[in-house]
Amino acid sequence: MPKPIPHHIAGRQVTGRSGRTGAVFNPATGEHTGNVSLASAEDLQEAVAAAKAAFPGWAATTPLRRSRILNKFLRILEERTDELAAVITAEHGKVLSDAKGEIQRGMEVVEFATAAPQLLKGEVTENVGTRVDSHSLRQPLGIVAGVTPFNFPTMVPMWMFPVALATGNCFILKPSERDPSASLLLAKWLEEAGLPPGVFNVVHGDKEAVDAILHNPDISAVSFVGSTPIARYIYETAARSAKRCQALGGAKNHMIIMPDADMDQAVDALMGAAYGSAGERCMAISVAVPVGAKTADALMAKLEPKVRALKIGPGTDPEAEMGPLVTKQHFDKVRGYIDAGVAEGAKLTVDGRNFKMQGYENGYFVGGTLFDHVTTDMKIYKEEIFGPVLSVVRADSYAAAAKMINEHEFGNGTAIFTRDGDAAREFAHQIQVGMIGINVPIPVPMAFHSFGGWKSSLFGDHHMHGPEGVRFYTKLKTITTRWPTGIRSGADFVMPTMR
Ligand code: NAD
Repeated sequence: MPKPIPHHIAGRQVTGRSGRTGAVFNPATGEHTGNVSLASAEDLQEAVAAAKAAFPGWAATTPLRRSRILNKFLRILEERTDELAAVITAEHGKVLSDAKGEIQRGMEVVEFATAAPQLLKGEVTENVGTRVDSHSLRQPLGIVAGVTPFNFPTMVPMWMFPVALATGNCFILKPSERDPSASLLLAKWLEEAGLPPGVFNVVHGDKEAVDAILHNPDISAVSFVGSTPIARYIYETAARSAKRCQALGGAKNHMIIMPDADMDQAVDALMGAAYGSAGERCMAISVAVPVGAKTADALMAKLEPKVRALKIGPGTDPEAEMGPLVTKQHFDKVRGYIDAGVAEGAKLTVDGRNFKMQGYENGYFVGGTLFDHVTTDMKIYKEEIFGPVLSVVRADSYAAAAKMINEHEFGNGTAIFTRDGDAAREFAHQIQVGMIGINVPIPVPMAFHSFGGWKSSLFGDHHMHGPEGVRFYTKLKTITTRWPTGIRSGADFVMPTMR
């Protein structure tokens, strides 16, 4: 019997009034496990009202007290990582070790946000004019919302809300409707840690709920992570109603393998980066670019047997390196891309289409897939597949490889494997991508730096978490103070700083 998955509003779990629900499945078995409430504008309004009521109290709570609540939340997450990981795996499908990995990365942002008193320190200048001082400080925006994708049901929300809450905002989370349950545990545990009801609310839903967020005049800012067409829509719609917006989109991440690279290391790195989490990561490497025919042949010789030997299984199998895809619809889409690659003339070296998982015949498993001789005009090169499909595009020179990356629509992450310092420096300096790895395949910035891509991978000015996150969720105020003792009175017709 599928379980109902409610909203979390004002400290209570509520079904909502829309009467609409979305089916949630276990990707390993294909079983229909839940029905998630899909919010109407009216349901969203209830969350906004709760956040509005909670905001004055939360904004007035000292940063130190907010920080203590986040610290307590961090301890709860530490103690209950296994419980949360099991909920993620049951709806997303990723292996448990990967689910724990995403919780860990999210916890690092919570850890960063516990420095709220330090993060909110302003700036002071004494004597901007005679006996005139200026100080600037950052205040919360009010009610902010986060709309998040299926692929990291806890980490991506935790890129957002810890910083938003630490800086005094109330938060409305609209998680992916494909794996919604983990967000409810986060809401429950935040309140157990002492967060007042209404400060953090979860509203489930689809386009209707997102549109309600975008058009709600009481929501000041929207953080979005998901696919590029939706990111662009969110950014444009939010901007029309003067909301602050950061909208992170899709990716196609390349890894250049130079002739001098340590090939074993490069292949190991590629395996995890291309096939980890079944390729459903915005920082997954989906294109390998070996430079020179000899490098390409050496790469393929080592890669192919490893792709064939990938251990695939349900996320709960501790031996499995890769689980199923998230939904039947996504399974069909990824298989469709493999068909397209074959039709376009790429060489299909390892074919994951007919992979069957014994005992899990209804699961959404696609085996590791490897294409060689992919060219830049092919659909499988141009578009994001978001599955366990790696394309090898052979380049004649470093310059040709770099040009390829710079001309691609997306600019999220990229990596180079080389022992040549000059090549590495040149790459880091001139490549048109937001996050760069040098002998690091998935260069995800740590919580105290900020995460974000370039080009069609990010719309807006601010990256997520780290110092950029603090700037995004706060507005700057500058106060100028004059202490007129000893200064002649009378009308003043010049700027005070002129004296
Ligand atoms: P998605 O764009 O389908 O959905 C993301 C969110 O938008 C969900 O909450 C969904 O309910 C909502 N949404 C979907 N259609 C909508 C519509 N028409 N109008 C308004 N809202 C809508 O993305 P997904 O499939 O859940 O996630 C995978 C995508 O996310 C990939 O493209 C991946 O690259 C991207 N992603 C990017 C990053 C990054 O940092 N750049 C990180 C993780 C995932």
